[in-house]
Amino acid sequence: MRPAVDREAYGRSAARLAVLGLFLAVAGCRTTTPPPLIPPFTPLPTPKPTPPPTPPKPLPPKAPKTTGKLEVPRLKEWRYIVIHHSGTDSGSAKKFDQFHRNVKHWDSLGYHFVIGNGHGSRDGEIEVGPRWVAQQHGAHTATSGNAYNNYGIGICMVGNFDAKAPTPAQMQAITDLVAYLQDRCKISNRNIKLHRDCKDTRCPGRKFTKEMLLARLPNRASGPSFWSRDSLLLNWLK
Ligand SMILES: [Zn+2]
Repeated sequence: MRPAVDREAYGRSAARLAVLGLFLAVAGCRTTTPPPLIPPFTPLPTPKPTPPPTPPKPLPPKAPKTTGKLEVPRLKEWRYIVIHHSGTDSGSAKKFDQFHRNVKHWDSLGYHFVIGNGHGSRDGEIEVGPRWVAQQHGAHTATSGNAYNNYGIGICMVGNFDAKAPTPAQMQAITDLVAYLQDRCKISNRNIKLHRDCKDTRCPGRKFTKEMLLARLPNRASGPSFWSRDSLLLNWLK
């Protein structure tokens, strides 16, 4: 008879276990949160937009090598650069200084700078005159009102450019000097003048043109730039 009792007991135990299991399953449903199958969505951090690379600022033109003092602490209010040739085959600042004192009876060399051609001074040598050192007006382009002498930096290139073009070293020197003076004195390309632009003369000869110089300058635009003294903005504000 034992097996019948056991079967009965077994049946009861199984029923209890089933009830318990059901209870636990229901209770479990209520209390346990199943782990999420897909992890919660975390948005990726938005990458910061990379700013476009800033173009490097153009460096100011390097001061050219000169004979005499080019860097002066205080500048006169210069508005023009006036270019001349000497009309002679040779020359130097000293030679022209003597001529201007002794023959013209001026107090010193009329130009602010002289650029040599290898005859009388070195080829491409930039000599600084006393008028630049003292920031004194020039004596090179007399006109009514004298604007070019009062506000013009006078540069004389040695040579007769009606007969012969400037040497490559002279062209390099005038380019470097003009670019430097433009930057320091804020002079636009428009205010770079040849002597013949200011009065009735052939100086500085037909083999030197303004275009030859402008083509070599870092700031090739021929109009006044915003910073120049004769710029449209400044004129409008006046
Ligand atoms: Zn001249």
